[in-house]
Amino acid sequence: MRDEDTYVIESPKLDAMAATYLPEVFKGLGTTLKHIVGTVGGTRRKTVQYPEQRREYEGVEEGGLYRGHYRGVHRLNRDEEGRVKCVACFMCSTACPAACIHIEAEESPWDDREKYPRKFDIDELRCIYCGMCEEACPVDAIELTPEYDVVGHSRQEMIYDKAKLLAMYDRTVNNKPM
Ligand code: SF4
Ligand code: SF4
Repeated sequence: MRDEDTYVIESPKLDAMAATYLPEVFKGLGTTLKHIVGTVGGTRRKTVQYPEQRREYEGVEEGGLYRGHYRGVHRLNRDEEGRVKCVACFMCSTACPAACIHIEAEESPWDDREKYPRKFDIDELRCIYCGMCEEACPVDAIELTPEYDVVGHSRQEMIYDKAKLLAMYDRTVNNKPM
């Protein structure tokens, strides 16, 4: 490495008072006090009484559909005829960095596509909710929904199969853009 590629950053000179760090300590305490007063007074309260209260996600309503950025549990979308939209191209499972999508393809019984997924499983516990599957899908068949309060008593219950993913579509159809 050449000398001209090296940057030397000098530490700022502190006066006697600043060198005690007390001004910064009191500034920090002031911020803490502001948050305490705001929380007790209710103006800056960040907690909610879940599950009676649910947090509203940032997003906008457009044409009756929610367009937000929260990435929750997946759904498999249906086409206009109510069939699974997926064409079993494996793009999502190839893009998935957590390797949590398992698809088994089969010849499609319909004329408008060659294949469809006989089996489509997502391990929701292994997923890191990055949204890469959604980005990779060429036919908008897989999406992440704003749903976050999904629970299971075993790992098996948290592996969402095709039926569960389609049921999630039916439950959230008006909450995410198509
Ligand atoms: S959100 Fe990311 S980790 Fe989860 S299934 Fe999709 S690609 Fe995989
Ligand atoms: S969900 Fe989309 S990307 Fe994944 S296999 Fe189906 S069509 Fe391909």
